[in-house]
Amino acid sequence: MNRIGLIVAMKEELNAALKEFEVINEFKIFDLDFYECKYKDKTCILVQCGVGKVNAARCAQILIDKLEMDCIINIGVAGSVSKYVNIYDVVVGEKLVQHDFDLKIFDHKRGHIPNVGVYMDCDPYLVKLAKDIKIDSKVHLGTIASGDIFVTELAMGEKINNKFNALCVEMEGAAIAQTCYLSNIPFLVIRSISDSPNKEANNHINFDDFVEERSKVSVQFLKQLLNKIK
Ligand code: SAH
Repeated sequence: MNRIGLIVAMKEELNAALKEFEVINEFKIFDLDFYECKYKDKTCILVQCGVGKVNAARCAQILIDKLEMDCIINIGVAGSVSKYVNIYDVVVGEKLVQHDFDLKIFDHKRGHIPNVGVYMDCDPYLVKLAKDIKIDSKVHLGTIASGDIFVTELAMGEKINNKFNALCVEMEGAAIAQTCYLSNIPFLVIRSISDSPNKEANNHINFDDFVEERSKVSVQFLKQLLNKIK
């Protein structure tokens, strides 16, 4: 895998990544800015897709169709929905699920997408490499849930954890997963924890405090992963 697509959702995450890579070319496709970066023998194309599943999916499709990526890695921040996962930790997605996809009325399980299923598996080779990475933060491996909702309520977080055994929630990963799955492109999602839905504090304040710093952690993790990818 020599051509690697890197998707982030937010400006803070983009800036954290740009600090760590040497940009050799910049170009625009539609409204999106793409940064071609050289990292050792790899060509990485970094792009900020914007927040949410639609932005993420169309950006992944552009990377696949127009830029012919060998794989796509999504990095960024997420909210913990597990009592075992804390702010400062990193979650590597083993599988992704869309927690807001609901065809229950047609006797499908919550999260079930026709022709796709409930869970989408990250590439086993990339997951295996990620498993051996040691950084200062605690690293968890498990399910990441995505939806077009910023989850602030403890009850919603618990429900997502119970239903899908998810470790964290975010708003893009599973859309990138679905796009890659349908195009047969390997993918991985890496998230560092910026906040945790809880009833005492205002989760949004929590998020703003941590987003910049936590973005850096997922980039550090990514660099270690890029060192290992053959
Ligand atoms: N600051 C932005 C909105 C951020 S939305 C604005 O004002 O436009 C939150 C982003 O962080 C998403 O990209 C999502 O993937 C991630 N995220 C972090 N914590 C989350 C949570 N608790 N619930 C959902 N997404 C979360």
